[in-house]
Amino acid sequence: MDIGLRGKVAVVTGGSSGIGLATARELLDEGMAVAICGRDPARLEDARVSLAEHGDVLARQCDILDKTAVLAFRDAVLAWRGSCDLLVNNAGQGRVSTFSDTTDDAWREELNLKFFSQINTIRAFEEMLRASDQGAIVAVNSLLAYQPEPHMVCTSAARAGVQNLLKSLAGEFAPVIRVNSVVVGLIESGQWDRRFAAREDKLTGRDKWFSDLARKKHIPMARLGLPTEVARAIAFLGSPAASFTTGAQIEVSGGLSRHI
Ligand code: NDP
Repeated sequence: MDIGLRGKVAVVTGGSSGIGLATARELLDEGMAVAICGRDPARLEDARVSLAEHGDVLARQCDILDKTAVLAFRDAVLAWRGSCDLLVNNAGQGRVSTFSDTTDDAWREELNLKFFSQINTIRAFEEMLRASDQGAIVAVNSLLAYQPEPHMVCTSAARAGVQNLLKSLAGEFAPVIRVNSVVVGLIESGQWDRRFAAREDKLTGRDKWFSDLARKKHIPMARLGLPTEVARAIAFLGSPAASFTTGAQIEVSGGLSRHI
């Protein structure tokens, strides 16, 4: 099914790993030109090389918390293609901490990351998205926004605030730019690979470690999700196939949520 992205331009923040990399690949396969950014140049170059087999890619080093760098990334996209139809705000990471071990500085850092990873890029690309005939923003957020965990207290609270912000933006930007999100559960990606590498019991293999994790977390689908499974939801929300959908979210969690 053609979902209407062919010939259009997407920007994917954090496109050098995990969900962002899978999303860039999915959008290229849908016929888009895709610009990605990330901080680590080697990882970015590896991603660029692997994505180039799928289509037209631009890769730029950019920390999305650095406003000047984000504007330079925007200018590079402008010079490259002259337009942007879809912004995928994906870059970021979670923070494991309880209320008692989260310092004030850690709170500020987490709130800064969660909010300004949206605000900086949306400000930078808003004009280009407005100029598109199908401008759309899709944010990658976590189920923790709706189902907080005590061991991830500040990331949960920050993510709830981001969903609130996106709802306001959907109203303010309608009918010109649609704003939606995916809320993910546990997805096999760089974050979990790093936790697997740092596991205490080094004798436990990858498959067993991940299936034990799924069991411990009571994921009804009995496994972690794959980045491509998130990418498909992002592509749908970012496409004209979702033309009347804004201010909404798709949960990709294998049934992990307990709320209706
Ligand atoms: P990965 O670690 O695999 O990928 C994260 C990507 O974001 C990398 O490309 C990384 O590149 C980039 N990135 C991180 N910080 C910045 C920054 N400041 N500026 C630019 N790029 C940045 O993780 P995931 O694919 O799992 O994560 C994608 C999103 O999904 C994140 O926002 C994460 O919080 C969210 N999420 C993931 C979950 C999961 O289970 N995987 C659960 C809940 C939410 P580099 O480090 O080189 O900058």
